[in-house]
Amino acid sequence: MRFEGKVVLVTAAAQGIGRATAERIRDEGATVWALDRDGDALEAIDGVKRIVADLTDPAAIAALPATVGPIDALANIGGFVGAGDILQCTDDDWTLSFDLNVHAMHHAIRAFLPGMLTKGGGSIVNMSSIASSIKGIPNRYAYGASKAAVIGLTKAVAADFVARGIRCNAVCPGTIETPSLRARVVAQAGAQGIEVADAEAAFIARQPMGRLGRPEEIAALVAYLASDDASFTTGAVHVIDGGWVN
Ligand code: NAD
Repeated sequence: MRFEGKVVLVTAAAQGIGRATAERIRDEGATVWALDRDGDALEAIDGVKRIVADLTDPAAIAALPATVGPIDALANIGGFVGAGDILQCTDDDWTLSFDLNVHAMHHAIRAFLPGMLTKGGGSIVNMSSIASSIKGIPNRYAYGASKAAVIGLTKAVAADFVARGIRCNAVCPGTIETPSLRARVVAQAGAQGIEVADAEAAFIARQPMGRLGRPEEIAALVAYLASDDASFTTGAVHVIDGGWVN
């Protein structure tokens, strides 16, 4: 088992990609700390240690190591998909996009990196997106800007700590079937005045494989990057998108 004896913290672990990641790494032998602000949804996940916390609260994130202790891997999955172009983006949308998608990662890495360094190594996996510096996606202005920042943050951490046993990688999924994606499909249908089925077909049409990705497919990549199997990989941007940007 790849994660036997390892301790891993997964953020946004109550549903979607975060939940699939927590369950995958748990099944591979790790002690998993599953963090989410939705305590009820976290209760549904067996065999993990649960932390109910708001990723946009820097003090709460800074206090985590006192509870969790040193960890071997950190999976920063938390993120929010804001809709709209620059003219539609309110200051609140912009602020939330950066607070949750970027600042939370910054705070989590800063909190847990010292423990990893003391242990002699660790792996950090940051969830970005195809909507980032990889590709401009319509109606994803604040989201794309924040996910591009995730790639820059990832590369900077990787460069600064490569000689001290720390690896830091970014994951860029295409469109993945998760509860929040379902909500975006319904919202898109409402915004365009079309049927939900037609809105869903438009999301699927972006994917050359003719289907959406599954959270478990992203979790498999995150688990690989978090594990020692990826020991020669750092500062890299891992596209997993069903051939979308090929
Ligand atoms: P989701 O949006 O379905 O679930 C997000 C989880 O985060 C929920 O459990 C929610 O309770 C939790 N959460 C939200 N705000 C929080 C906060 N402030 N503090 C703590 N927890 C909070 O998840 P998803 O669609 O699997 O997306 C996960 C990540 O993957 C995000 O970073 C997203 O941007 C990225 N991503 C998703 C897709 C996709 O198509 N679903 C594609 C590319 C990238």
